Amino acid sequence: MSRIVGIDLGTTNCCVAVVDGGKPRVIPNKHGYSTTPSVVAVTEAGQRIVGQIAVRQAVTNPEHTVQGAKRLMGRPFDSEEAQHAAAHASYRVIAGPNGDVRIVLHDKEHSVPELSAMFLQEMRVVAEDFTQERVDRAVVTVPAYFNDNQRQAVRDAGAIAGLEVVRILNEPTAAALAYGFGRAEPKTLAVYDLGGGTFDISIVRIDEEGEFHVVSTTGDSFLGGEDFDERLMDFLMKAFYRDNAIDLRTSPIALQRVRQAAQKAKAELSSVEQTDVSLPFVIATPETGPLHLEYTITREMLERLTADLVTRTLQICELGLSYAQLAPEHVDEVILVGGMTRMPAVQRAVEEFFGRPPCKGVHADEVVALGAALAAHAIEEERDTGLHDVTAHSLGIMTAGGRFDALIPAMEPVPTKVEELFTTSRDGQAALKVVVLQGQSEWAAENTPLGRFALTNLRPGPAGTVRVRVTFTIDEDGMFSVGAKDLDTGEEKVIDVLASSGLSDDEIERMMADSAEYLAHRRAEESKEDSRQACSRLIAKLEGVLPEAEKKMAWTPVGATAVEKAKKAVTAVKTGLDEADADALTKQHALLLRVEQMIERALEKAS
Ligand code: AMP
Repeated sequence: MSRIVGIDLGTTNCCVAVVDGGKPRVIPNKHGYSTTPSVVAVTEAGQRIVGQIAVRQAVTNPEHTVQGAKRLMGRPFDSEEAQHAAAHASYRVIAGPNGDVRIVLHDKEHSVPELSAMFLQEMRVVAEDFTQERVDRAVVTVPAYFNDNQRQAVRDAGAIAGLEVVRILNEPTAAALAYGFGRAEPKTLAVYDLGGGTFDISIVRIDEEGEFHVVSTTGDSFLGGEDFDERLMDFLMKAFYRDNAIDLRTSPIALQRVRQAAQKAKAELSSVEQTDVSLPFVIATPETGPLHLEYTITREMLERLTADLVTRTLQICELGLSYAQLAPEHVDEVILVGGMTRMPAVQRAVEEFFGRPPCKGVHADEVVALGAALAAHAIEEERDTGLHDVTAHSLGIMTAGGRFDALIPAMEPVPTKVEELFTTSRDGQAALKVVVLQGQSEWAAENTPLGRFALTNLRPGPAGTVRVRVTFTIDEDGMFSVGAKDLDTGEEKVIDVLASSGLSDDEIERMMADSAEYLAHRRAEESKEDSRQACSRLIAKLEGVLPEAEKKMAWTPVGATAVEKAKKAVTAVKTGLDEADADALTKQHALLLRVEQMIERALEKAS
């Protein structure tokens, strides 16, 4: 069986880890970094680029560069969050055929899972290059507060990337697992996870046996570093408008530059008290000529601009503790996860709230992937992961008057299932319609619809006599499924839950094919480049030894012919090297190897 890797599919960065020699370790990408930016771009020539190189070209190609796609995972187009993104993003966000979100890059529409699949595929390549094995199975982490639609979108992303997602693991739970590795004592942990796009707080109890019990988990899947960036961007653009009466939002390139500058300033202000934001030639108009943006931002200003966001995380912490029925002093250790927790104001607030300094020695960017790798390794070895998680949302159905009837309450340990009996309310009723939702409100309309299904072909009978037992299940991945049985006929009902948004099977298959084709093409290009480089090395080596060989051998007719042949071969390969295709490169490499051997043998004889 192939290895299973752990992947942290973050809003801002992705990270892949594997257990190696009994210890989890992060696999660096080919640039030597442990994380890869979750940024993808399509160039004018239609080429896909991912990661650091995509970040570098973002300023000149803002309309076709996507960052923060995870925030749109599993969201319908008409949701508040998707509308916010449509208004603020530098790329075009439109409605998809299933009411989902599509992003347009050079006239091609991409679904959000398709874009996330590109990051998963990138992580797959990083892992394959390191392990030198095929990687097609992964444990992928998600924010604990992700609902079923969002988890399904991650599953779809895995399928598109050609990865079997063997487990979807909550990010804070993964972090707790990595924290607990090699630490044996029982403890109550609070995992405060503020990433680029989402916030989670989980209270986790590690027991005497080293098992991990999530006691409560809650969060906000639209609260993270990007909101901090936006505050700073707004501030800079308002200041610029005040000074120049020009709205920078009208220029995608200027907007992108301000975004990157705000992100950079925010991160810098975690270690220095003030920083200069300087964007020369940020915009030019016929009236004003080129204008420069130059402002000094202090840490105190940033803290003032974002204070309410930090307070909001603390309110959610309070809720998490109340779900766990604990007070802050019951928490033995606070673990900070996510890049945003490097902000001093966040650290101060968390320390004040819990009355203790957060744990040092946990790497905020890597801990989630490390935990995912540990879980992956346990699954690989068919061991129990020792994890006992809970569902962050109540699962229920819509009942009369638009009310929400919670069948599985939030904080229920998963996996779990519940049975509900449905009866007909009218004589001769042939179908029952059920709407499944997830959320905390008592009103169905305020919760997230997961889908609707119909129990059809019911045996006609008087009202109340036809009874169908419906089973709602939440599995270890936090995902729900539903099954039904007609109690009178004993017949199992096949239920098709129509997802409210998302991808159809056909679409996923098409995207899988595209993705597999991309990977095959990329691998072929890489292998071609490897052959080309191997040829270049051999050419350089032969060019180094041929003058000596000529001196020693050219005085015999046989030697002269050999040297002449070698020179010709080297020149011929060198001239056609840039244009050669894969087959030609393989042949040329073999030819150069033969020439090398021939010259080495001749030199040996001559000496
Ligand atoms: P993550 O999703 O965990 O990779 O978190 C990324 C978020 O952390 C982004 O919003 C980054 O801008 C932010 N971040 C990274 N480094 C720092 C830092 N030194 N100070 C403040 N925020 C940071």
